[in-house]
Amino acid sequence: MKATNFLVDSKEKFRIKDCPTTPDDKLSKEEGEKRTAGNIEEMINLQDVFYASQKYSLLLIFQALDAAGKDGTIKHVMSGLNPQGTEVHSFKQPSTEEISHDYLWRAHEKLPERGMIGIFNRSYYEDVLVVRVHNLLNNILYPDVIHNDDIWQKRFRQINDFEKYLHENGTIILKFFLNISKEEQARRFIKRIDDKSKNWKFSEGDIKEREHWDDYQKAFQETLAVTSTKTSPWYVIPADKKWYARLAVSEIIVNKLKELKLTYPQVSKEQLLKLQAYKKMLEDK
Ligand code: ATP
Ligand code: MG
Repeated sequence: MKATNFLVDSKEKFRIKDCPTTPDDKLSKEEGEKRTAGNIEEMINLQDVFYASQKYSLLLIFQALDAAGKDGTIKHVMSGLNPQGTEVHSFKQPSTEEISHDYLWRAHEKLPERGMIGIFNRSYYEDVLVVRVHNLLNNILYPDVIHNDDIWQKRFRQINDFEKYLHENGTIILKFFLNISKEEQARRFIKRIDDKSKNWKFSEGDIKEREHWDDYQKAFQETLAVTSTKTSPWYVIPADKKWYARLAVSEIIVNKLKELKLTYPQVSKEQLLKLQAYKKMLEDK
């Protein structure tokens, strides 16, 4: 498995229907799980340096259709990390307060501080996905400038500008689209109905959204193509096999953290001498 295979790197050639939803290599589940465990182990050390160096923040964005495994992937991949250095934010239907601001407002204040890893479970991308598919802008009183034909193109540009701004200010961004097939989604919904402990996860809304499958694919297709950039790339993760999605996501995060070549802050000579003096004081007591 090569993580770069999942990168959306060509605006013109990208076709969501050509992206696999299942693994296309010979890796076994056991091998895959072993590799994921290794990645998680590595991530723990990398996060420690990331936090100590206080140089960058890392923003991980997860988008997907229902039951693609966002929650599980986030939970699993982040399982070993120091909770003090991570935060997860879920973006649901906006509140009255949120909707009375511009659409990036609620995301902006949830961005990770330097040294932190921030995870967005859904994000401002909902504003070019669900909002587009369901024409939700029509329900909102907006100034006239917002209601015109190229609203989505405008939003794509705004998102690209916003992410560029974040990058230029030290935020590293990785975006994951968990790509599930329509058949696998049906299987997972049925499981939620059959398994009593999973009944709570099933919502009528999920079935309604499924009817818009093709519209969502279309919206994702354009969104991913236009907003995947060098500094803020999208990865389309085959998500029909949960173990494989976890492996791919963990691999991409680890690679990125390694690429940064971060080191623990250097302590000055004077500071080192002071430390030795403190040690002596402590030992003398
Ligand atoms: P799960 O179902 O696994 O608990 P979820 O992310 O699907 O997780 P829900 O509470 O089921 O959470 O759904 C949140 C809903 O809010 C989604 O349908 C999403 O599309 C919607 N949503 C998020 N952002 C916006 C937005 N800006 N405008 C309108 N709807 C939004
Ligand atoms: Mg849901």
